[in-house]
Amino acid sequence: MKVTWPHLGHSDIVLKSLFRDLGVDMVIAPPNNKHSLTLGVKHSPEFVCLPFKLTLGNMIEGLELGGDTIIMAAGSGLCRFGYYAKVQERILRDLGYEFDMVTTALFESKIVGVARLVKRLSGGAPLSKVIAAIRLGLAKLSAMDDIERAVHRVRAIEINKGIATKLFQEAINAIDYASDMSGLKKAKMDYIAQLNDVAVDTKIDPLKVGVMGEFYVVLEPFANMDVEIELGKLGVEVKRSLFVSHWTKFSLFLNAFGVTEKEKTHRAAMPYLKRDVGGDGWESVGEVVLHAHSYNGLVHLSPFTCMPEIIAQNIMPSIKADIPVLTLISDEQMGRAGMLTRLEAFVDLLHRRRSASLAGALG
Ligand code: SF4
Repeated sequence: MKVTWPHLGHSDIVLKSLFRDLGVDMVIAPPNNKHSLTLGVKHSPEFVCLPFKLTLGNMIEGLELGGDTIIMAAGSGLCRFGYYAKVQERILRDLGYEFDMVTTALFESKIVGVARLVKRLSGGAPLSKVIAAIRLGLAKLSAMDDIERAVHRVRAIEINKGIATKLFQEAINAIDYASDMSGLKKAKMDYIAQLNDVAVDTKIDPLKVGVMGEFYVVLEPFANMDVEIELGKLGVEVKRSLFVSHWTKFSLFLNAFGVTEKEKTHRAAMPYLKRDVGGDGWESVGEVVLHAHSYNGLVHLSPFTCMPEIIAQNIMPSIKADIPVLTLISDEQMGRAGMLTRLEAFVDLLHRRRSASLAGALG
């Protein structure tokens, strides 16, 4: 058996660690690129959302490279995600591929379901070994997210642009190589220290911009055209609402951590939207209310035709909280130049707004 899976941000590092520790053969498709997008678009229904197309492209590339078992998250959500795995399996079989499709309904079976799945894929490894491998994988996830938060802070004010991004890439490689908890802890501390040592301009008070919206496009840099890096280059400190480690806690261990971030956003959204509308639509509304007074603006990422984010986008103008929101829509037609122009104009607006508000406060 050779397992393969579609990409989502840096989650490859976690799956690689898990399967390496348990001796499972794996085939890792190339990172998302034009080719995977073209493959996905070619074989997907035209109207389906971008994450479906990109993940299908990854699956085709993984199978072409020799993978024979696809791991895909599944569930019974309110949006199309609930149908992804079934429809993708059908498309791949129609294309003539022979493979096993292994899905885990993460939202229903939580950590026990994941442990069962991993044990099965490893050919029955002892439970203690499975748990240790999962523990290391989850710790890697948290370490990457902690380092990325530091990267967001430094990127906005570093004197030589690009250092924080380079260090982040090196940190991911170091975390990938870490084979145990102590090696991982060392790698994390080392890169946090290096980031704290980057030369920064302390006189700058960077704009703080929240990046939120649909889970996949927020977390997959190819799908959002590196929006966080681009904001950092413009001197903006990104405050991202979603991290895979948060999501994992929510999805796999719900209720074990008290009130979750998700629950906070749901409560904030209540005056405008009282129920889940699928995907991350409810959270997107809550984010606007929650952060109106702590951030200078919000970038709302939404895949074209994403029903939950369309609902959220249409509610946002009626929210009383006064914060500018730039919605960026991702699909296969997206162009970097157009996105950069909109980002530059948005950041310019936020600067003027802040200056006007400071002048008003002084006058
Ligand atoms: S949240 Fe939107 S983009 Fe994501 S799977 Fe659902 S419909 Fe598609």
